[in-house]
Amino acid sequence: MIERLGEGVWWMQFGLGPPLLRNCYLVDDDGAPTLIDVGLPWDAPKIRKHLESVGYDVSDVERVLITHYDYDHVGGLRRLARDLDAPVSLGERDYGIVAREYTPPLLHHKGAFHRVLRRLFPLPLELQLRPLADGERVGGFTAFHTPGHNPGHTVYVHEERSAAFLGDLAWEDEGALTTPMRMDSYSLAEVRQSVGDLAERTPPFEIACVGHGEPLTRGGSEALGVLAASLR
Ligand SMILES: [Zn+2]
Repeated sequence: MIERLGEGVWWMQFGLGPPLLRNCYLVDDDGAPTLIDVGLPWDAPKIRKHLESVGYDVSDVERVLITHYDYDHVGGLRRLARDLDAPVSLGERDYGIVAREYTPPLLHHKGAFHRVLRRLFPLPLELQLRPLADGERVGGFTAFHTPGHNPGHTVYVHEERSAAFLGDLAWEDEGALTTPMRMDSYSLAEVRQSVGDLAERTPPFEIACVGHGEPLTRGGSEALGVLAASLR
């Protein structure tokens, strides 16, 4: 399903049910259709259909922003690549994992997983991958380096749309924001630090677009502040 969350912001949710549900988003950024995260490989045909239902073709997409290099956030790229003529941006450190500039620690549960992931499911070469630094602007979005879940996890904030794309920095549970599971993250301590850091640095936003769970359509930055306070 695709659901409008606010002016120019749409939510797509895939999966059979919790805890396997995952989210992607579409933003009309001043006429530039922007996809944020792309789900698993088999979500790609649905992304295509959902985009069409709101008047876009995959080839219209002008950029893809990836919150982090995890299979349920980048898997769709393999099947979208042939129609996608757009740069795909992700945080510097996660770009480093993909580009083999950085080798994740083998003795860390998620590091070992990433080593396997990039070997078994390399991202298609035709993709125009771009590393993003903290604070870098892409159209109306600002990238916030928010490591912890992944070394290069990145949150994108669109001030004009009053929306933040939180990826797996924070999930939604019963209308509130919560941190992801420990086993799924490089460092939960670093996730907590990134939550506090983002809560201080981000401009206020209403819509909190989480990687998993239901996005909040109002009071997003307040909810982030509440989460940050609870982790202090
Ligand atoms: Zn995820």
